[in-house]
Amino acid sequence: MRATPPPKTYRVKSFGCQMNVYDGERMAELLADRGIVPAPEGEDADLVVLNTCHIREKAAEKVYSDIGRLRKADGSKPLIAVAGCVAQAEGEEIMARAPSVSMVVGPQAYHRLPEMLDKAVAGERTTDTDMPPIAKFDALPARRRAAPSAFLTVQEGCDKFCTYCVVPYTRGAEISRPFADLLAEAERLVAGGAREITLLGQNVNAWTGEDHKGRAIGLDGLIRELATLPDLARIRYTTSHPMDVTDGLIAAHGEIDKLMPFLHLPVQSGSDPILKAMNRSHDADGYLRLLERFRAARPDIALSGDFIVGFPGESEADFEATMQLVDAVGYAQAFSFKYSPRPGTPAATMADQVAPEVMDERLQRLQAALNRDQMAFNQASVGKTCPVLVERKGKKPGQLLGKSPWLQSVWFDSDVSIGEIVEVELAEAGPNSMAGRVRASATT
Ligand code: SAM
Ligand code: SF4
Repeated sequence: MRATPPPKTYRVKSFGCQMNVYDGERMAELLADRGIVPAPEGEDADLVVLNTCHIREKAAEKVYSDIGRLRKADGSKPLIAVAGCVAQAEGEEIMARAPSVSMVVGPQAYHRLPEMLDKAVAGERTTDTDMPPIAKFDALPARRRAAPSAFLTVQEGCDKFCTYCVVPYTRGAEISRPFADLLAEAERLVAGGAREITLLGQNVNAWTGEDHKGRAIGLDGLIRELATLPDLARIRYTTSHPMDVTDGLIAAHGEIDKLMPFLHLPVQSGSDPILKAMNRSHDADGYLRLLERFRAARPDIALSGDFIVGFPGESEADFEATMQLVDAVGYAQAFSFKYSPRPGTPAATMADQVAPEVMDERLQRLQAALNRDQMAFNQASVGKTCPVLVERKGKKPGQLLGKSPWLQSVWFDSDVSIGEIVEVELAEAGPNSMAGRVRASATT
């Protein structure tokens, strides 16, 4: 590769989960520290970071088509870095298949992006997919500016080894970031303008640590501590695993006003034999009982989940069990996917792979039920007045967009500022958002 002038502008494109969004923001901060500025909307960037997702085949293949398409207006290629889970899983293949890529950096190594960039400018191609636990966070610059709703990664990796999933291989073993570091980062986020913090982790509720008195605490303890930050108005967390739900976490939903009434607790399937084959370590009934306990602690809690249809061996009866579970829960929103065999995972070589057309048909039925329930949840919210955190401008002049406590997108006309929390009456329900009318400014 030939030497190139140092980049003046960058663009980070993050795909996949919210943890990637967080990592993307941190990479942007590293580049900003180097004096590189974000490329204005619609203009070429000298450096493009593709922060990739490996969870399903489609997501992974997208990387190669994106690399092929990246070109500046003058026909030249920008400097290209591939980051994220595809980088971790397919680093060597990317280097071989895509000669225009000069940096491949895994999710635990991106704090070394600036050094890699120096080498790229000198014409050297580098790959760094080391997995040093936690080192990255210590090496990253302190947070400065934050959106009204900010992400904070508290836990990384996964030891659960669900048989369909690549995460334990791409993100490594479960680790929790230290309490003091999280408190410090949360304080910086709040000082930088965040009113809401969403705590992130592949298994966020597996987080453990020691508080400032050396007492062992879990996620609920962390939430309790963060709730004492005066200017932090809202706390959320995602994604949780049923196995790591504790009594303390359930109780926190009834006791901490700043903890929003929303729970994303993936179940994947409603069929016990399929859950067993997935190595989920819970059954459908156990999952439903957990949800009942959350509802008892916080009756208005909105529920969300993830589903996979067409896992190997899934019969029509297994799928029906999923549909029954959906009916029993009444999710406020949920994500559903067709099973995608991932190389190196146990499920990829299981017998009885389900035919694509069967998966398509089941996904359609499941999504129709989930959409029906989401619409019903939104319709049931009409007439309620609730605090909405204003996150950004809407498409039309004077329109603002924010989130209700139940994570519904709410748009309304007002001249209040981004970052304010206002009392809004939810006036009209759509399938994916609510239209509201401002009542008054609120403080929390
Ligand atoms: N740790 C979380 C959990 O256990 O629920 C979720 C992590 S994963 C990034 C997000 C979702 O992707 C999973 O809940 C699952 O529904 C979906 N997923 C993971 N592997 C998949 C696969 N091979 N095919 C289809 N969907 C998959
Ligand atoms: Fe993947 Fe299962 Fe771990 Fe979630 S719990 S990240 S689905 S292995």
